Amino acid sequence: MDSLKIYNTLSRKLEVFESISPNHVGIYVCGPTVYGPPHLGHVRGPIVFDVLRRYLILQGYKVRFVRNITDVGHLVGDADEGEDKLAKQAKVEQLEPMEVAQTYTDAYNSVMDRVNVLKPSIEPRATGHIIEQIEMIQTIMEKGLAYESNGSVYFDVMAYNANQHYGALSGRVLEDLQAGAGNQSRSLEGQDEKRNPNDFALWKRASAEHIMQWSSPWGKGFPGWHIECSAMSARYLGDHFDIHGGGMDLLFPHHECEIAQSTAAHNHNPAKYWVHHNMITINGQKMAKSLGNGIMVEQLFTGTHPLLAQAYSPMTLRFFVLQAHYRGTLDFSNDALLAAQKGWQRMQSAFKLVDGLPTVESGATCVVDDLLAGIKDSLNEDLNTPQVIAHLFELARRINVVNDGNDHITEQTKMDMKSIIQDYCMGVLGMVAELDGVNDGLEDAMSILLLLRAKAKAEKNWALSDQIRDELKEKGFEIKDGKEGTTWNKF
Ligand SMILES: [Zn+2]
Repeated sequence: MDSLKIYNTLSRKLEVFESISPNHVGIYVCGPTVYGPPHLGHVRGPIVFDVLRRYLILQGYKVRFVRNITDVGHLVGDADEGEDKLAKQAKVEQLEPMEVAQTYTDAYNSVMDRVNVLKPSIEPRATGHIIEQIEMIQTIMEKGLAYESNGSVYFDVMAYNANQHYGALSGRVLEDLQAGAGNQSRSLEGQDEKRNPNDFALWKRASAEHIMQWSSPWGKGFPGWHIECSAMSARYLGDHFDIHGGGMDLLFPHHECEIAQSTAAHNHNPAKYWVHHNMITINGQKMAKSLGNGIMVEQLFTGTHPLLAQAYSPMTLRFFVLQAHYRGTLDFSNDALLAAQKGWQRMQSAFKLVDGLPTVESGATCVVDDLLAGIKDSLNEDLNTPQVIAHLFELARRINVVNDGNDHITEQTKMDMKSIIQDYCMGVLGMVAELDGVNDGLEDAMSILLLLRAKAKAEKNWALSDQIRDELKEKGFEIKDGKEGTTWNKF
């Protein structure tokens, strides 16, 4: 089997991936709404779609990867009422909305760098594409599928559904939605402006005190949340592109509305494959502020959340995410993270032995062709990364057996082992060797420094011990004093 099959939420089937244009793939992934520091829920999607992108690149495709930044239009409550998330946070922090967006965009991208997610080819911002959004709204209005009401513009779901299928992606039925929506209070802001409770905002009129607003043919206002993705994906990938990705939590209403908008404007679904990753849980529970289990990525890297017994490295986090299939749930717990850390260290220790393995010209029985084939099959079968990791563990086992002198390899097998590590562990899974037991020189130098610092502490020379810690920190080395002694990590 040599072609990638991927689960298409639109058809609810595993489909063979065939790019629209030969050798080129366009991917659009919904990015973060940048109004707070990145939490664990922010890392899974980017890692999953990074692996997909890397695998396509390995297969020779030229990939244009677009991941947006939502810096306006995403309202508290994810509906058409309420305050803009960015504007709300800006008031809390006494900042310009753009300052909030910049701060958290930087924080998000710094986390992406640390978990080795490739930078997007294009990272468009909603506020930088107001004109494109207004133009798309105008097109939809010209088709008779949106209407203006009191300075806001709403998508006419009933008119659209007369010829198209609203609910095609999420499987929701409009009649059921109608029944549910009927219970909503009509007095909610904006509800009485709509012809139908299921209509959603393309443009919202801004009140005078609203701090983010632009001029439009309908007066001062700001775009609805969904229109940015339709406008920006069309702008950078064309009105029909290969893969649209996101979390399952975005299926409805966000992606359903995106499909409706794009279909209204261009007469067809914008993406060939809709790919969704599942959500994360913390100790079996949904992550929520109210449950006190909202773990920020930074807290994971520093071990400073009450639910965490220690710090975990960026690659442990990446490895942990990839140990679950992207369509299954992923449960964070200390035990599971610890197991991932140990597994990743065990794998690294074995892989660093490869260069030094002795080879023989004849009599070798250890080969790895089956592992390479297994890895390819696993990736082709809906990006089954846990199976890829299982094959890599088997590779680590064989390396150890050869290293212990209990089996032998030829020079060719040694090259094969190296290329599996290079192409798949590092290339496709995007794992980077970390320092735990891998870079012996640095380990040794660090232990000398930490020994000197311990000596300074014993002599109550706090100035020197703090200086060593602070200067190392400046260079990216995190020093932690714990019960078991001092540990360090490099970011
Ligand atoms: Zn989106």
